[in-house]
Amino acid sequence: MRRKVVAGNWKMNHTPCSGAEFAKNIAPKFEAGAEVVFCVPYVALYAVREAVEGFPVGIGAQNLHFEDSGAYTGEASADMVLSTGAKYVIIGHSERRQYYNETDETVNKKLSKAVLKGLTPIVCIGEHLEQRNQGITEELLRIQVKIAYRGVNVDTALSTIIAYEPVWAIGTGVVATDEQAQQACAWVRGVFGDLYGKDAASKIRILYGGSVTAANAKALFAMPDIDGGLVGGASLKPEFVDIVNAAK
Ligand code: PEP
Repeated sequence: MRRKVVAGNWKMNHTPCSGAEFAKNIAPKFEAGAEVVFCVPYVALYAVREAVEGFPVGIGAQNLHFEDSGAYTGEASADMVLSTGAKYVIIGHSERRQYYNETDETVNKKLSKAVLKGLTPIVCIGEHLEQRNQGITEELLRIQVKIAYRGVNVDTALSTIIAYEPVWAIGTGVVATDEQAQQACAWVRGVFGDLYGKDAASKIRILYGGSVTAANAKALFAMPDIDGGLVGGASLKPEFVDIVNAAK
């Protein structure tokens, strides 16, 4: 049995104060079941973590640098993230790939550093609309997974979470159909199985992300290869409670 995960990606929203307030308000409303994570801006990590103290809610960053320290202005290391009490980190989000030159190679370096330090990476992969229309989604997902996990052993790989996020569905209000999302997640599970074996494939958790709302979450999370969601816009609203509770 794979425990479902629902992770909210707050993106560049909330100050430490407003984030802590929001988190404190909704944390008591989650029903037991799914693993819940708030991925918040670096500056809010500590405050939000404090705000949910005593509730079964994990805190994550939205990025990290693969080096431990040095002349990398504006960046944060795994140790810095861990020092706030955060336990998760999003890696390779499509917005970072699009605006900050994130590549499969940097995803691999960041993933390797995160797991070495004991953070749980939520590794994002997904195709653009043109790539889907060209019929190369599966090839692309295979390459993304293979490069992201290069040099990572099976036990370590199983400590990660994969998020399949079709880029055309992120922040657009255009959600993948349940079947499209299921098909892609099943494919990714197969690729993971090619790398690590059938048993590992049956254990790895694969989330769907892209315009998840309270209205579509239940059906998506009921698909056999979808183990929860990575939720952007709707994680900033009270409806996030319904999304989390749809995963129990
Ligand atoms: C995301 O930021 O990962 C995401 C899926 O955003 P949204 O839910 O707003 O599409």
